[in-house]
Amino acid sequence: MRNADLFGRALQVIPGGVNSPVRAFRKVGGTPKFIQRAAGAYLWDVEEKTYIDFVLSWGPLILGHCHPAVVEAVRDQAVRGLSYGAPTELEILLADLVCSAVASIEKVRFVNSGTEATMSAIRLARAFTGRQIIVKFEGCYHGHVDSLLVKAGSGLLTLGVPDTAGVPEGIASTTAVLPYNDTEAFDEFMKTNAAEVAAVIVEPVAGNMGVVLPKPGFLETIRTRTRDCGALLIFDEVITGFRLCFGGYQDLVGIRPDLTCLGKIIGGGLPVGAFGGRSDIMDLLAPDGPVYQAGTLSGNPMAMAAGLATLNTLKELNPYEGLARVMQVFSEGLLKSAGKALVPLTVNRIGSMAAVFFCDGPVQCFREVMNSDAKQYTKFFHAMLESGVYLAPSPFEALFVSTAHTPDVMERALQAAEKALTALSG
Ligand SMILES: *Cc1c(COP(=O)(O)O)cnc(C)c1O
Repeated sequence: MRNADLFGRALQVIPGGVNSPVRAFRKVGGTPKFIQRAAGAYLWDVEEKTYIDFVLSWGPLILGHCHPAVVEAVRDQAVRGLSYGAPTELEILLADLVCSAVASIEKVRFVNSGTEATMSAIRLARAFTGRQIIVKFEGCYHGHVDSLLVKAGSGLLTLGVPDTAGVPEGIASTTAVLPYNDTEAFDEFMKTNAAEVAAVIVEPVAGNMGVVLPKPGFLETIRTRTRDCGALLIFDEVITGFRLCFGGYQDLVGIRPDLTCLGKIIGGGLPVGAFGGRSDIMDLLAPDGPVYQAGTLSGNPMAMAAGLATLNTLKELNPYEGLARVMQVFSEGLLKSAGKALVPLTVNRIGSMAAVFFCDGPVQCFREVMNSDAKQYTKFFHAMLESGVYLAPSPFEALFVSTAHTPDVMERALQAAEKALTALSG
């Protein structure tokens, strides 16, 4: 079997040949690799080529592919039933873990994706506050929810316009889009609009425009202003939850949002999302309250089992310092090779997540991300792929390491990177 043949077949029956657009390689060109299996830090495509995987299913697989504890948990559950549509103890166990790990979460509800989590959280915020406006930040991604697929209008203080076909202007105009890391712009907006704001939703570390860390004071200001005006603060920790510590980024910086969205790692590779927070807000959900929210497969035992096995293993291993060290060595190696090759490169990193930008730094907002050299990334991506290193097929995505990315695996990846960066200088 060949990748190209499968892609040809896929194109016949699946729009663009893929079930999520970035997988189609349009941002970097070429044919997507069709994966037949994975283990630890590695992927194998259908042509039996091996890759070191830095995508890790876009974040969930912090323990690498096929971690024995996760495989065993899923196998054990599968023979007892895939889904019951009735409550199970597994849901309580995972909810207990999440509530005890994330300080701001008193109650949590499980859904099937990060998109569902953010969609439900903003519905809840609107119901709780009786207001309509949602504030989001440029470059942050919160899933494909209508009112969050919105870009900035013409002026800084105007409301948003649709960022995709199919979103009514009326819905887009209930969302304001402000520049990430720009505390002044946020203050300015709140001065005139605070009384109408239901919620501010933010990725506390932006992980969908590469990786961009919050500047000191940015999140703190958002917390203070939202509290002062009675708006809710929603942290979208779908990527950062359980990735940077056992809990959320909020626990590292000591900021308590009112609601938190989770996903990715808490499902261990199966489809899961969750949203949780203050009890007085969460209790507005049906069946206790007037906010409808439901799901046929929500909290299904397979996903709960995979999530529980993942979180319990993380709790036991506490791998976070080790993962951060692995990523530090990797970024330092990349920067050294880029320096030798005279290729401008900036690496943003925190813990086990990082992004490479082909430009001189710093890169602290969406505009600076977009100003990096996407053509250089494309060349780098293909050189790495050729050498057996699978990076995200887009210049504006994070790369992740897992507990399976051992020093010898990373050394091989660095050798490939040195070769790729040297080729870029010519
Ligand atoms: C991936 C992601 C989502 C969407 O999650 P899905 O499971 O893809 O719907 C939402 N927010 C953030 C920050 C994400 O990274």
